[in-house]
Order: sequence, then structure tokens, then C-alpha cells
Amino acid sequence: MKLIRNEIGFKKRTKVLILVCAAILILAISILCIEISKKTKQSIENLVRDDIISISVQNAIIVREELGEKQRFLQALVDDIRSNGFTTEQEILKKLEVYISHYNFYDIGILYPNGICHKVGGDVVDLSQKDYYKKSYQGGSLITESYLSEGGEEVQLNILLAPIMFDGEVKLVLTATYRSNDFAELVNIKSFQSEGQSLIIDSEGKSVVTLQDYKNKEYSDMLNFINSNSELRPSEESGENNYFTFTYKGREYLSYMAEIGIEDWYLMSYVDKQEVFSNVWDMEQNVITHMVISAAIIILILLISLHVYHRYQRKIQSVVFYDELLGEKNYEYLRLYFRNMKQEEREQSTLMVFDIDRFKVLNLSYGREKGDVLLQYVHDIFREELPEDQLFRNRSDHFVALIKKASKDEVERKVKKLIWRLETDIEEGRVVSFSLSFGICQMQGIKDIRTAYTNAMIAKNTVKYNQIIKYAFFDDDLRAFSMQNQEMEASFNHAIQNGEFHVFYQPKFDMRTGEVVGSEALVRWVKPDGKIISPAKFIPCFESCGKIIQLDETMLEMVCTQMKEMISQGIDVKRVSVNLSRVHLKQPHITQKIKNTIRRFDINPSKLAFEITESALQENITMKKIVKELHDMGCRVDMDDYGTGISSLYSLANNDFDFIKLDKSFIDHIGDSKMESVIKSTIDLALRLNLGLVAEGVETREQVDFLMENGCYYAQGYYYSKPITKDEYMNLLKNTADV
Ligand code: C2E
Ligand code: CA
Ligand code: CA
Repeated sequence: MKLIRNEIGFKKRTKVLILVCAAILILAISILCIEISKKTKQSIENLVRDDIISISVQNAIIVREELGEKQRFLQALVDDIRSNGFTTEQEILKKLEVYISHYNFYDIGILYPNGICHKVGGDVVDLSQKDYYKKSYQGGSLITESYLSEGGEEVQLNILLAPIMFDGEVKLVLTATYRSNDFAELVNIKSFQSEGQSLIIDSEGKSVVTLQDYKNKEYSDMLNFINSNSELRPSEESGENNYFTFTYKGREYLSYMAEIGIEDWYLMSYVDKQEVFSNVWDMEQNVITHMVISAAIIILILLISLHVYHRYQRKIQSVVFYDELLGEKNYEYLRLYFRNMKQEEREQSTLMVFDIDRFKVLNLSYGREKGDVLLQYVHDIFREELPEDQLFRNRSDHFVALIKKASKDEVERKVKKLIWRLETDIEEGRVVSFSLSFGICQMQGIKDIRTAYTNAMIAKNTVKYNQIIKYAFFDDDLRAFSMQNQEMEASFNHAIQNGEFHVFYQPKFDMRTGEVVGSEALVRWVKPDGKIISPAKFIPCFESCGKIIQLDETMLEMVCTQMKEMISQGIDVKRVSVNLSRVHLKQPHITQKIKNTIRRFDINPSKLAFEITESALQENITMKKIVKELHDMGCRVDMDDYGTGISSLYSLANNDFDFIKLDKSFIDHIGDSKMESVIKSTIDLALRLNLGLVAEGVETREQVDFLMENGCYYAQGYYYSKPITKDEYMNLLKNTADV
């Protein structure tokens, strides 16, 4: 499992990378939060600054307008008095009285040169000690700072003074008092959700208009602070220069001083920064909280996804690398394992492949479930007998074992141990009778598992149907054999195009008359140098690589072409048997293809027979269907090599063949009395089943006599003729008659 994880799962590096990514994400989010917070604060401070400037400027304009209006009114009165001549005090006071309420004055009066002021209501006050009295008699109209009214109710007032000049001399001064509190109403001192405050101060920082209760301690403390803090002085230039921040009682304030344009008065607005930012901080906290939650969710989703992906991968791995039936690792795992092996370790290892002989037949005979039990059994005995070695299943009944650090003798001992165990179990009835075939490849000098596997398979195939020898090592002979196979495979296409494959005909004879009754088409590979390669060499090679299909099709086409040629020459062409490899039986639409070829060459199907090797029966259940389809076409079907397989009787009864060809290995035993009785009963059985009989490999007169005595009349063998060329065959046919 560790190996798979290392190879396919998350490597440590990947995990670290994921953690680093998560950490970077968190860091990035933190930096982003800080940046957002900074930027938000900065832009809010900018907004507050702009607000405070515009509110201060607006309020300053309002104050200037209000006072300006009153000043203009007083000036108009002054002008009126001057133009109408100097009337009596009563007249003037009477005139002024009308305007008190209109202009919202506290009172209006006439200030005489001696400093005595006569007010509209009749009150008389002595202002001779006041600065503004002196200043006003020096000729300038002015407005005083707030002062507390004398006598009566305590009110904070500001006085507007307008001198009346005659002949360049101040004769009288008009006074109009205004409640400082009324400024407070004009000035929108509460702004920023009631957190902002305003003051009217002069350029020295002294309060000139009391906008709040003058007894209010907080207010007067702030006034004193501003007054005593020399840094809080308006700049001569207006604009942003008058924007300040200051700290008062440990709190930071944002402030602006707007020039009012009257005297040296400034309207100062200020706001507690913390108060303004408290909402922002709330907001900021919200944003940060949301971001942190989002980040946490993202990371969580990321981790969950990774976890799910990881699990999914593991599942896939278990499907890819494990064999469900046996709970064993499979060949894919071995490939992975091999990749991770050191070359030195590989060199000392041995790969062993093995399978159950005729597993398909066993599966068919006993059922799939029993087949699975057999596989489990093979797995179990391996585990019990060779516990230190590793076993992998490839597909179906194909097992692969990896044996480490073992000499050839040790490996041989191990294989024998397995075979002995199997034989004992069969003998003692613990398992049904079956055999295993082993192919072994020592991996010295081999770098890839594929080569080792192929070599072991080649070795195994040499003992596949051998009843006695059940294991083979891949040795130098096999190496040469496999090299030869590779060369043959590589040159196949060129050989086909080059017409290197030829048809030879081996005639079949009626032993009674000595006449030719037909022939078998046998392929010959004639190399450009004239060397002939035996089909016994290349047929198994082309069968294993699949090229046999193309070769058999070519053979059929050549046979059809040559038959046409014979017919055109007026030769009474006999039936030709064409071999069909067992590989064909796995091909879909094989009979349709044959049909098309026969039609294309316009050959009478009854002039053709197909030979299907008997061992093919054991592996293919579609055989019956193919035999039927060939019959339907009008062709004859012969069972080839009868007597070499294990289930000949079964296949005889189960398939609808026309002829059986007694294998040479049977005929060779003529003379051996035991075998002769087997041959006799086989002939007898075939005749009972209404099957035709051809003896193959007949070489002697003795064999001919024996066969004829026992009812087999047709033969193919060197006794009569070796396979011959087309021309030789044509000459032979010219003198024989059809059967
Ligand atoms: P087979 O189908 O059993 O063909 C008979 C083989 O026995 C031929 O060998 C033939 O030359 C040989 N033979 C015949 N009479 C005698 C005899 O009296 N003594 C001896 N010692 N041998 C005899 P060949 O031509 O070498 O073919 C070998 C095998 O190659 C064939 O066995 C057949 O299985 C396969 N084969 C040949 N041609 C083709 C083909 O076109 N297609 C396919 N699929 N297989 C072919
Ligand atoms: Ca044959
Ligand atoms: Ca044969």
C-alpha cells in the first residue's frame, strides 16, 4: 500500500505543498485584511476630513452672513440718521425699537461719547470702561466677543457697534446686542451623528462666541485647552492648512478652522476620531470576520475535496492494483513494484508465470463458481508452500510469481514443491484433477518486466499441453527461438506482398484404387534466396501474434485462384482441404469472409473442405456454429489431428464433422498391438457415427494394409506422396478420376 501511495497517492512533497498553499492563503488573506483595513481607514479619514472642512466652511459662511446682515442693517440705520440729520435720542430709540424683534436682537441702544448707553427699553448702562466703547469711538464698526450680560438674567451676548460720524468725528455709536446662543442655533454644531462640535475663536485661540452653556465644564475645559495650545492656531492661508489633528485627554480629534471673515474670527469644528471610527471598526471587524470565515470555509472545502479525492484515488488504486476475487495484488502492482526495485535486486530475482491447463474447459465443465474455487486453491497452495515469495494474478487463471534471491536449483525446487502439493491433493481427493504449466525467467540482464513476462510465457507455452513436463526455464534455445519469432513477425507483411508464401498440395489417396481423391493445401514460405521455412516453425509464431488470420485468408485466395486455373485447363479438380487455425475461431464473421472469397472466385463450395484442428475444440464453444455455417455454405469440414487432444470422443459426438483425420501419432503406432486395438475401435466408432476417415502420415505398406483391413480407405502420407507444387499436382490430377 505504501508503494502505491508513494507512486500514485499524495507524496509527502505534495502534502507539504498543500499545507504551504493553505498557509500562503491564510497569510495572503491576513495581508489583504490589513490592507483593506488601512485603505478603509484612510479613505474614511479622507471622507471625514472633507466633511469636516465643508461643514466648517458652510457654518462659517452662515455666521458671516448672519452677522453681515445685522451689520448692514445697523449701517443702513447709521446712514439714515446721517442723511436725515441728527434727531433726538427718543426719536432714534423709537426707530430702533421696531427692528429689535425683526432682527432678533437682544436689545438696541445708543452709546454716548461718555460711555453711557441708553437702551430701547429705557435701561441705561455704563460702558465707559469697556474696550469696545473706546474702539468704537475711534471710528471702526465692530463686533465684540461674547460677554455676560450685566444685571437681570445672565445671558451671553455679542455686541455689534456702528459709529455715526459727522465731520470726520464719531458723534454717537449705535449698539445692537445679539445672543451668543442664537449663533449656536445657526451653526449646525452637531454633525457626524452628533459627535462633532464647533467653536468660534479668534486667531489667538480665544473663544469669541460662546456657542454652548458657558458653565459647561467640558466645554470650558476644551476652550481652555485650545486657548493654551499654541499649535492650534489658524494658518493665514485657508484650505487644508487649517486641518489639524490633536490629542486631548488621550483621545484623538480631527479638526478644521474655517475663516469667518469677521474680525479675526474662525469657526473651529472638531470630531472625536474614535467615535467616527467606531462604526468603521465595527464594519471592518465584520469584513475581516467574513473574510476569515470565507477563508476557513475555502480551506475546509479544499481539505475535504482533497480528502475525498484521496479516498477516491485509493478506491481506484484498489480496483487497479488488487484482484477482488483472491484479495491478492495483481500484475499491475507487480509492474509498479518492479519499477521501484533496484537493478541489483532485479538481477537476483526470478519471474514465474503459471496457469491452469485447459481452464476454460474446466470452467465449462464444472461451472464458473467451481472455477473460482480452483483459482483460490492455486492461490492458497502457493501461499502455503512458498510463503516468502510474492504472488500476483494477471487475468483469468494467469498467475505471476516473483521469487527473490534464488538460484536456478532453488527455483526448480520451489516449482516441484508446488507440483508435488497439487498432485498429492488430487490423489487424496482434496481437489479435482487438473494440472498447472509453469514458465520461468531468471531476470539477470533484464531491465523491464514486460520482457521477463514475455520470456516466461514463451517458456510456459513449450510445456502447455505436455502431460509430463510441466515447467520450463527460458533458456538460450528459447531466446533464439523468440528472436527468430520476432524476426518472422517483423518480415511477415513484406513476405505477403512479395508473394513469398506458396501453396503446396499433398494429395489424398483411395488406398483401394490408388487414385487421388483430393488434397490438403499446405503453406510454404519460400525466401528470396530459395530457402524454404517449415510451417511447423512459423505457424505457431503467426498464431501467437494473430497474423495467421491474414495468412489463411491469403492461402484460401491462392487455392481459389489456382483451382480456377486448373478448371480453365479442363482438369477435373478434386476437393482441396484448407487449414483453418484455431485463432480463426475467435474471429467474428469468419464464415462470412470465407463465403465472400468463394463467391468472388466463383468456386463450387463442394470442391472445398476446411480442416479444423482438434485441440481448437477444447477452447471454443462457437465451433459448432462455425461448422454448421460452413456446411450451410456447402463445404466439407474435417476434424484435423484426431487423437492428439484429450477430449476427442466428446468433440466427436458433440460436433457435426464430415471426416476425421487420424493423426500421424496414431498411425506411427501401427504394429503395436495395444495401439492397434485403440485405432481399430476409433475407426469403428467413426464408422458408427457415419464419419469419413482419412489417415495422416501414412509411410509404410504395413500401415496401408492395416488401415484397409480395418475399414479406413483414405490416406495422406509420404507412402503415396509428399506435399507437391501446384504444377506437379496438376500433372497428377490429369490421370485420376473423382471419388
Ligand atoms: P497438418 O495440418 O497436420 O498437415 C500435415 C502435416 O504432416 C504437413 O506438414 C505434412 O507435410 C506432414 N505429413 C504428411 N504426410 C506425412 C508423412 O508421411 N510423414 C511425415 N513425417 N509428415 C507428413 P507441414 O506441411 O509441415 O505442416 C505442418 C503443419 O502446419 C500442418 O499440420 C498444419 O497444422 C500447419 N499448416 C500448414 N499449412 C497451413 C496453413 O495454410 N494454414 C494453417 N493454419 N496451418 C497450416
Ligand atoms: Ca491439416
Ligand atoms: Ca493433421
